[in-house]
Amino acid sequence: MGNVTFNKVSKRYETNKSYALKDFNLQVEDGELIVVVGPSGSGKSTLLELICGFETLTSGDILIDGQSIQDKHPKDRDVAMVFQNYALLPHLTVYDNIAFGMKIRKESKKVIEEKVTWAAKLLELESYLKVKPKKLSGGQRQRVALARAMVRKPKLFLMDEPLSNLDAKLRDNMSQEIKKLHEALHATMLYVTHDQIEAMTMADRIVILNKGEIQQVGSPSEIYQEP
Ligand code: ADP
Ligand code: ADP
Repeated sequence: MGNVTFNKVSKRYETNKSYALKDFNLQVEDGELIVVVGPSGSGKSTLLELICGFETLTSGDILIDGQSIQDKHPKDRDVAMVFQNYALLPHLTVYDNIAFGMKIRKESKKVIEEKVTWAAKLLELESYLKVKPKKLSGGQRQRVALARAMVRKPKLFLMDEPLSNLDAKLRDNMSQEIKKLHEALHATMLYVTHDQIEAMTMADRIVILNKGEIQQVGSPSEIYQEP
């Protein structure tokens, strides 16, 4: 579950002359970790925003498990997004940040507690559940954001430069952790970054994007082989 088909996907914002994405074709397999690499403005965020419904397609189609996203309301698409700026709620505890979506969906207290406990354990956040985000380091905040995405048990994770605000060493650790997490969750991941090292560390396959078009697709060794 969680395979994605991009079928000649194009997006042009009304205010712009040029396309943010142009004829993007890709088949993402169940459970695959795809890293999309490209410079700022190459269309990476647009790609994720089309899937989660923040933006609408200009032409083409995106299928998740064979179903067009245009037939599904964004909240029924079974995807979870993780952002660069964490987007945590500052006045809520870590526990309540992780639980936030489940509370809105009126899941039972018991289920909420089980899922928060499960995610906190996997991400080593157990001792921080009662504190507010401002007491946490950048790396810890990003773990909370990951936990909040995980408790939805989505079949597809969308990650938009989740590590860009972290220093280089932490980024390296976290990218290996996200890879492990991906293996533990058996979910599909679409991860965008401008950082080639991150892509090499994590990806099953890398997609190089430039000015809205795919330049190259392949495994890390195919893409970054020595000449
Ligand atoms: P990236 O994530 O790789 O930095 P984006 O998807 O954010 O790229 O942007 C791709 C192109 O679309 C850029 O030229 C950008 O200026 C433009 N763009 C992105 N969002 C909007 C928007 N809401 N309105 C108009 N143009 C936009
Ligand atoms: P409410 O749903 O009214 O916000 P709860 O009774 O669910 O309150 O929880 C009260 C507070 O205790 C929450 O704000 C949360 O931070 C904390 N909390 C609840 N369960 C746990 C738990 N298992 N571990 C740590 N903190 C918890």
